[in-house]
Amino acid sequence: MTVTVVGGGLAGCEAALQLAQRGHEVRLLEMRPVRNTEAHQTGDLGELVCTNSFKSEGPENAHGQLKREMRALGSVLLRSADQSRVAAGSALAVDRSLFSQAMTAAVEAEARVRVVRGECTELPEGPAIIATGPLTSDALSGAIQTVLGDGGLAFFDAIAPIVHRDSVDESVVFEAGRFDEDSDYLNCPMNEEEYVAFIDALNSGQAYEGHDWETVPYFEGCLPVEVMASRGLDTLRFGPMKPIGLTDPRTGDRPWAVVQLRREDRAGQMWNMVGFQTRLRVGEQRRIFAMIPGLADAEFLRVGSIHRNSYLNFPERLSSYGAPASRPDVIFAGQLTGVEGYTESAASGILAGINLARLLDGEDAIVPPATTMIGGLFQYLREAKPGHFQPMNSNWGLVEPLQERIKGKKQRRQMLAARAQEHFLAWMGGHGLRAVS
Ligand SMILES: Cc1cc2nc3c(=O)[nH]c(=O)nc-3n(C[C@H](O)[C@H](O)[C@H](O)COP(=O)(O)OP(=O)(O)OC[C@H]3O[C@@H](n4cnc5c(N)ncnc54)[C@H](O)[C@@H]3O)c2cc1C
Repeated sequence: MTVTVVGGGLAGCEAALQLAQRGHEVRLLEMRPVRNTEAHQTGDLGELVCTNSFKSEGPENAHGQLKREMRALGSVLLRSADQSRVAAGSALAVDRSLFSQAMTAAVEAEARVRVVRGECTELPEGPAIIATGPLTSDALSGAIQTVLGDGGLAFFDAIAPIVHRDSVDESVVFEAGRFDEDSDYLNCPMNEEEYVAFIDALNSGQAYEGHDWETVPYFEGCLPVEVMASRGLDTLRFGPMKPIGLTDPRTGDRPWAVVQLRREDRAGQMWNMVGFQTRLRVGEQRRIFAMIPGLADAEFLRVGSIHRNSYLNFPERLSSYGAPASRPDVIFAGQLTGVEGYTESAASGILAGINLARLLDGEDAIVPPATTMIGGLFQYLREAKPGHFQPMNSNWGLVEPLQERIKGKKQRRQMLAARAQEHFLAWMGGHGLRAVS
């Protein structure tokens, strides 16, 4: 039976090759160059729409670990990157034209994959993978919404930074919910002087200017923190930074303002800065948010951003491997599922390809354990709170913590990486997965 993969981007190419290498005939449907997106420039498969970097390959880096797991599964993105690599220190960066040409050549060289150019406007009839990315065309978005229902598909993300619990200064922050209702919050208290300086810094911080088509229709309830700051000195103090219902146990008083951190994961490693969605540049976020009492040395697991981005409400509407209940034979993959980034999208495509092949062969879908980077990402997709669900990049906070508490960041990451690799290879072996080339 021929299976359909929709979208010849990073995830779709990975998925198509995984299916083909497991003996399945694939129709890969890519709308470019017949119909373009706002960001792509060519008709090449696997085109990179922005930076030419796939981030670090460092041994104890979260992105480095993701790449090791992808390499073990025979990632075409990484093989193409190796062929088109340019010098970039410990990062894996590529010549973008050579990269997408290598991706296109690798897919076209696979006899079981037939590339068809044209827009897909409905979910395919038979087994399929949908990997149409952050700029999924309008017609297909409409069809996906019909299947997933209202609220199943978002068109913009509004991402607040996430910090690692171990990097928060315990001597400053305090645990409490407003009016003791819910204590799953950490509070960073500010006095008046600190607050005024912070608002000044937000007002002078440099923000990212997007293209016209990326202009975000801001909702009043979800404004970037710097836009709120620009509306007046007290706007944030009466908004997400309101101190109402909170008493600082060290002083016995209500702080002037508070930044609240909300727990993101079961293990309590990842803490989200509530209401701090932002378009500030990454360096500016690190500089300005370090002014928040308790966050001077914060380790940012995710930085804030606001993008044009089509993505599904995975935790609410999809199964553990990414299929809607009404269509278990249709697996969503790539950025559309709520992973964020080139390699994360590609990794999701690899797993979707493996899983659709397994389903077609009468086997169960599988997901790596949460001690691995891909497994940690999928655990987040499954377990994130649907009402707050926002896309996620690879980071060590996603991965199950070590049994013992390791103080040094470098040593902790080395141990996490060694365990992730061991568990990943064991998981592959346990399911008869061999690296494919
Ligand atoms: C402007 C922009 C900049 C980004 N910059 C970065 C960055 O610098 N670094 C980073 O790590 N990530 C970045 N991302 C996020 C993301 O990682 C990439 O978009 C990544 O390419 C996602 O991979 P994908 O396979 O899910 O989607 P894509 O690579 O976008 O592939 C989806 C494919 O589906 C096709 N398609 C869409 N609709 C249809 C349809 N109806 N029928 C047929 N084909 C269709 C598209 O033409 C496209 O080729 C950026 C995203 C955007 C939008």
